[in-house]
Amino acid sequence: MKRRKFISNITLFLLGNILLSGCDSQKFLKEKINCSSCKYCLKVCPRGINIPYVFEIYNQYVENQNRDLFKESYEKIPEMNRPNQCFSCSLCAERCPKSLNIPFLLEKIVQEYSNIK
Ligand code: SF4
Ligand code: SF4
Repeated sequence: MKRRKFISNITLFLLGNILLSGCDSQKFLKEKINCSSCKYCLKVCPRGINIPYVFEIYNQYVENQNRDLFKESYEKIPEMNRPNQCFSCSLCAERCPKSLNIPFLLEKIVQEYSNIK
């Protein structure tokens, strides 16, 4: 009985490792943002954050995993308009036809930038 349980545990362990080795954890965690660049959000952001631009450079990064390019594109944004200036008023999200949780996504992008700079 003990031997059967041991074999069962080993099988589960091996199966888990096979499944994990089949996925790229980096890509798994990063998904493209479904922004249509309609720019409705731009008109209302009190901090002047160019949200579609930020999402565009993030999407490019998800696709090509090019950290240097992402960093360079991010740093082209004037400091006063960078995503870290977002104070989560959600005015942008109210206008977004894609119902994106923009403040949350911006925070995620700020974290990503902090990780690679
Ligand atoms: S939640 Fe952030 S990005 Fe959206 S309008 Fe407010 S300050 Fe701008
Ligand atoms: S309103 Fe939504 S879909 Fe339109 S540009 Fe802004 S984030 Fe993208």
